[in-house]
Amino acid sequence: MLINKKVIIIGGGPAGIATAIQLKRYNINALIIEQNQLGGLLKNAYKVENYLGFPNGVSGSELTDIFSNHIIKKNIEVLYDKVIQLLFEKDKFCIQTCKNKLESEIVVIASGTKPKSINNIYDNNIFDRIFYEVYPLRKIKNKTIGIIGAGDAAFDYAMTLSEKNKVIIFNRGENEKCLPVLFKLAEKQDNILYLKNYKLIELKKNKEKLLSVFNQNNTIQKFTFDYILFAIGREPQLDFLSDGIKPHIDSLIKNHKLFLIGDVKNGIFRQASIATANGIEAGMLISVHPQNLKLKCF
Ligand SMILES: Cc1cc2nc3c(=O)[nH]c(=O)nc-3n(C[C@H](O)[C@H](O)[C@H](O)COP(=O)(O)OP(=O)(O)OC[C@H]3O[C@@H](n4cnc5c(N)ncnc54)[C@H](O)[C@@H]3O)c2cc1C
Repeated sequence: MLINKKVIIIGGGPAGIATAIQLKRYNINALIIEQNQLGGLLKNAYKVENYLGFPNGVSGSELTDIFSNHIIKKNIEVLYDKVIQLLFEKDKFCIQTCKNKLESEIVVIASGTKPKSINNIYDNNIFDRIFYEVYPLRKIKNKTIGIIGAGDAAFDYAMTLSEKNKVIIFNRGENEKCLPVLFKLAEKQDNILYLKNYKLIELKKNKEKLLSVFNQNNTIQKFTFDYILFAIGREPQLDFLSDGIKPHIDSLIKNHKLFLIGDVKNGIFRQASIATANGIEAGMLISVHPQNLKLKCF
């Protein structure tokens, strides 16, 4: 069945949620398509200390629960499905998801980022032991976890996991690239060990565990873990863009038919407040554009 909507938002993280809520203020009912669950990447955050209104900080999962409740309260429609292709044909967007086909006049891409991976050092048979976000591991306890990376995400994930597990953070270089406050917190945790100059070179299954092999200043070091969590950077998630749409992106954006908002386009400025501000701005631009004023009655 073909679903027809005036405005479709790809991604139900902070940016997509803020867009839908802003549009609702103008009586424009947008549809959010979310492949996973509402809240996006922020649900992984150990403690969010820079979001207005939470002077004592708030965990990412608590904050994203508040966002999800806001969506429910505003009766905003969410389709839980994965967008696999976005096309633009005959003056409208065609969106192919895993289970549905949709059309719309306006599309807001708020799909965030995807993790960078190094999959040339391990086989398919260990996929169930390898993670790129901490959220799926948040309930585990009494395990030993290796975290690869030394940025904000690596130390943030370590804080979450160290409450009930042992964690080792491996930096392939000399300097960590994380907020000083986060580093100090991690330093105080007995369950976190931080090692510098360890480059992961191989990962393989060893019975029910993972054997990980590191090069440390030209000597081989081996560790056994229950899980490995990669935090080695992220890049824009735009896998669903069809080749046909790519040359037209700039003009579609200029004409306020297509919006790219939040982490997907914010480079190093990947923060929840910036993403939500982008969403509010997109909602306002959609509402005031003369071409789109007619949407308000839908
Ligand atoms: C560990 C950690 C700690 C952080 N701490 C803070 C902090 O303290 N303060 C702060 O401001 N920010 C923090 N951030 C950053 C913050 O999480 C992001 O800036 C914010 O979530 C970006 O929102 P977004 O909506 O642009 O993207 P995302 O949150 O990434 O949301 C994108 C959504 O799109 C969905 N999606 C992607 N592709 C598709 C598809 N093909 N089909 C359907 N759905 C799709 C995804 O499932 C996801 O839900 C932290 C991030 C991490 C990882």
